Amino acid sequence: MIPFNKPHLTGNETAYIEEAVKSGKISGDGMFTKKCHAFFEQQYSMRKALLTTSCTDALEMSALLANIQPGDEVIIPSYTFVSTANAFVLRGAHIVFADSRADHPGIDEDSIESLITPKTKAIVVVHYAGVACDMDKVNEVAARHNVLVIEDAAQAIDSFYKGRPLGTLGHMSAFSFHETKNIQCGEGGLLAINDEQYVQRAEVIREKGTNRSAFFRGEVDKYGWVDVGSSFLPSEIVAAFLYAQLENLNAIQQRRKEIWNRYQVALKPLADQGRLKLPFVPDFATNNAHMFYVLTENLSDRSALIEHMKSAGSFPVFHYLSLHKSPFYAEKHKGAEMPHSDRYMDTLLRLPLFVDMTDAEADRVIESIIGFFAK
Ligand SMILES: *Cc1c(COP(=O)(O)O)cnc(C)c1O
Repeated sequence: MIPFNKPHLTGNETAYIEEAVKSGKISGDGMFTKKCHAFFEQQYSMRKALLTTSCTDALEMSALLANIQPGDEVIIPSYTFVSTANAFVLRGAHIVFADSRADHPGIDEDSIESLITPKTKAIVVVHYAGVACDMDKVNEVAARHNVLVIEDAAQAIDSFYKGRPLGTLGHMSAFSFHETKNIQCGEGGLLAINDEQYVQRAEVIREKGTNRSAFFRGEVDKYGWVDVGSSFLPSEIVAAFLYAQLENLNAIQQRRKEIWNRYQVALKPLADQGRLKLPFVPDFATNNAHMFYVLTENLSDRSALIEHMKSAGSFPVFHYLSLHKSPFYAEKHKGAEMPHSDRYMDTLLRLPLFVDMTDAEADRVIESIIGFFAK
């Protein structure tokens, strides 16, 4: 069976973990965490990079930094992971859902302005499949209404918008290093702060509400409780693992793109015949090969395709259930129908894609799809 995902190891993970253990410092913010921070800040021009224990945690930090209060409204696409919304719901926010674009599961940028009210505090965009939202549009609307822009860049490592790295375009952004993402450490994340005014408070919130980071830099002579906060930082064991992945980012990305392109080329004839749709990448965006998906005509076609592919030995998976229809939020959702989000919910199917996948395995996946439509 070809699985949907198999976490890739670069070879140095356990050696670096051993180094961290032998150094005698395995709590957070040691040598490997600093190396990871420096990597992100240099490679992607992030103003401040802060490792967290997950993207979910980074999103929760962003909700604290945005000072979300009960009753505030936050605009979020319905077609996303629960954490995008939960981080703000935990602070008492009301979620205002936006639909996806017709040509892409990302937020319909043109729909955002009509959702803004005097209570709107933030817009959270999701760069679905690592493909950028139209950030000039989003930032322009946000600036005009004085609301924050937070990027859920969980899937967006090493991807760009008009040449600028995703995760550096909003006020702050959250990345994931969960084992299903391009760069992974099992469970892990990153908060990137791009607006200087949030940097100091981000450090405090991440360190249980203390100014411990400033203390270790010698900026204050004792540290204490200065704000709200929690424990959002990972141990050095996690950072050591992650650093081994970052050192191999180029090789990882290259192999993922090879497989992605193999799918694209082989399935294009089916798309040209109108049998299915392939991923769309707007001119302003790059493809980081986080995901290869196809769109079927309808839900029953997708179910039949999944059955066919499974019996032919591979394991594709569908993705999100529209959050505005979720058991938790359906009754709270006061807005409109979300036809595009619902369409992706019913028809989007993700193909197996992982670094250690062989060309022959990719070809087996391709053949099973071609075989299905030949029936
Ligand atoms: C993976 C993912 C998350 C959650 O990441 P964790 O690191 O598992 O917390 C959040 N949002 C999106 C869009 C994701 O793909």
